[in-house]
Amino acid sequence: MDLHPALELASTVHHDGHGGVADDLADAEGLTAWVRERAEWLGVSPFDADERARVEVVAVRQAVRAVFARAVSPGPASSADANRLLPADEAVARLNAAAARQPVTVSLEWPDEAEPSARLHPAGPADPVAALTATLARAAIDFLTGPQRERLRACAAPRCVRYFVKAHGRQEWCKPSCGNRARVARHYRRHRAPSENSP
Ligand SMILES: [Zn+2]
Repeated sequence: MDLHPALELASTVHHDGHGGVADDLADAEGLTAWVRERAEWLGVSPFDADERARVEVVAVRQAVRAVFARAVSPGPASSADANRLLPADEAVARLNAAAARQPVTVSLEWPDEAEPSARLHPAGPADPVAALTATLARAAIDFLTGPQRERLRACAAPRCVRYFVKAHGRQEWCKPSCGNRARVARHYRRHRAPSENSP
């Protein structure tokens, strides 16, 4: 199943495999690669990121992660940034400001034998960075107002910092390998705790 674009943006912050946190958007080259892999839905092609573009996209991501933290509360937020989250009202204002940078019109598309869908069209010129950040902000608005928000969780596995959308009721982990790691950690804790092992 493809991830929602807003979740893809949030997931550019992830566990680095060595106990730390990696950032796919740590430099302009990283943003260029990320955008080019998603050129179709982002609608910006060709695209070459510079540091200004990176800073602006990361600012939108920071807002997305803050509203995700609000969406999963009272459950725990991702530990990657739980202690330095943007206040939720600032995050909402930032997303709205980003979305407003590229006005769009909407049209209905309903081909034969297909589901009807809404198609967005830029209502005027905008520079590529404004168009990109507006598209990402609209994706966040779409996610938060859609059916996936209630199933959003922060992965509970040790060291994992991902948000994910639960596919079934009791899912605690973003992927099976996280579940395995969490079970191993739980087993280890249980067998190390003397009070639980004593007869
Ligand atoms: Zn995980």
